[in-house]
Amino acid sequence: MQIYNTFTRKKEEFKPLNPPAVSIYMCGPTVYNYFHIGNARSFIMADILRRYLEYRKFDVNFIMNLTDVDDNIIRKSVEEKKSASEVSEFYTRAFFEDIKKLKIKPANAYPKATMHIQEMIDVISDLEKKEIAYEVDGNVFYDISKFPDYGKLSGKKIDDLESGARVEINEEKRNPLDFSLWKKAKEGEPSWDSPWGNGRPGWHIECTAMSTKLLGKSIDIHAGGNDLIFPHHENEIAQSEACFDQKFVKYWIHFGFLNIQNEKMSKSLGNFFTARDVLQKYSAETIRLFFAQTNYGGPLNFSDELLSSASKGCEKISNLVELTENGIRKNSSAGIMPDFDFEKYRNEFIHVMDDDFNTPKAVAVIFDLIHSLNKIIAENENINVSFFHNVKNIITELASEILGIIDLSEQEKESSAALENELIELLITIRDKLKKEKQFALSDQIRDSLSKLGVTLKDTKSGVTFKKN
Ligand code: AMP
Ligand code: ZN
Repeated sequence: MQIYNTFTRKKEEFKPLNPPAVSIYMCGPTVYNYFHIGNARSFIMADILRRYLEYRKFDVNFIMNLTDVDDNIIRKSVEEKKSASEVSEFYTRAFFEDIKKLKIKPANAYPKATMHIQEMIDVISDLEKKEIAYEVDGNVFYDISKFPDYGKLSGKKIDDLESGARVEINEEKRNPLDFSLWKKAKEGEPSWDSPWGNGRPGWHIECTAMSTKLLGKSIDIHAGGNDLIFPHHENEIAQSEACFDQKFVKYWIHFGFLNIQNEKMSKSLGNFFTARDVLQKYSAETIRLFFAQTNYGGPLNFSDELLSSASKGCEKISNLVELTENGIRKNSSAGIMPDFDFEKYRNEFIHVMDDDFNTPKAVAVIFDLIHSLNKIIAENENINVSFFHNVKNIITELASEILGIIDLSEQEKESSAALENELIELLITIRDKLKKEKQFALSDQIRDSLSKLGVTLKDTKSGVTFKKN
């Protein structure tokens, strides 16, 4: 399996540190707002990567943090006249509701920054002992001149960065590029006691402390959107590797931006649609297909047209599933067994996904498969029920379990509702016959029993109708 590693800027053979275990740390949301559909792109693509690794029999431990203390949360709490924790708790709940609606598989844990302050203080203290961190009046900074490899992930040169950063004046810092590890408390802000007085952690230290606590000092995969390469992930490397003297991350995976008119969708620019708004118009499956049709690393423009076409794609899958459910219900093992190579499609899907999770090609394999299956079903009358079971299995595996572009439980519900209706109609026909043969006791029994099950029969001029309560 090949994975593109931002760190080496090339595709590499995927060899986890302790196979079959795979540790993944993904930078999650700052909970001060409903997340937007751009954030959703990163969350969904990470979900697909994770589901695929699980399909390939890796034992994945997937951790996503929640940043629940930060300038934005504090600003929002002032605006809304609420405490910072009220704001973060409200949007944390909204986050969980929305990822559930997007059919994102829950992470193994969602560590919150405010629950790991001591671990952050420990890392900062270690860095201070090593003279990599320095305190100025209750603020603690990371001295990037002590980490010669600074810039190795983003490929940025310290000299270039310095000339760009000169405008930023902060007299407390030794170097304008030094970043905050601990921020001195300000009036009314959430704060914790520490060796440097009351204060709160900087953003970057959260991920170092929480990933180490939950996954160890070296992890297989660290993921996040492209915007996090610099400075966030660069700073995480500087903190972790200086503190623990070992390679922090083996594979860095970054998700391309969801743009809107070629500009990054972001909370700060205000050019966003929340995921929950988009979900009013399009199903989770449609949104997931829309994302899966583009490689996870490249840019993608938010477009109603592409979403509508994804919606049609989802319909095609649903239609095949409906045909399949009917086939399973109505056909027997006496039918003919069409000659169809399911394994060829399964292997092709694996082949393209093994190549750095090429979801656009994987989607193409699925639509190819659907096209061929539709043709066989249309051309043959009496197909063996095993064939339909094979169809259901392959769609379940590839489209439902890995990509999440069809919800079979929804479809099963619809299909069992259809079966229920057919059974009621059948009982109505039998009751009709019984009435004609004057077997009123039995016909009444059918009506009463159905009524007890919540199905009311109504005799009308044009025949009997039914209503489910
Ligand atoms: P935030 O809450 O802004 O820290 O973002 C949460 C996650 O979404 C991070 O992994 C970001 O890199 C990612 N992200 C933010 N904006 C976008 C975007 N427009 N497209 C894709 N991913 C994004
Ligand atoms: Zn992070």
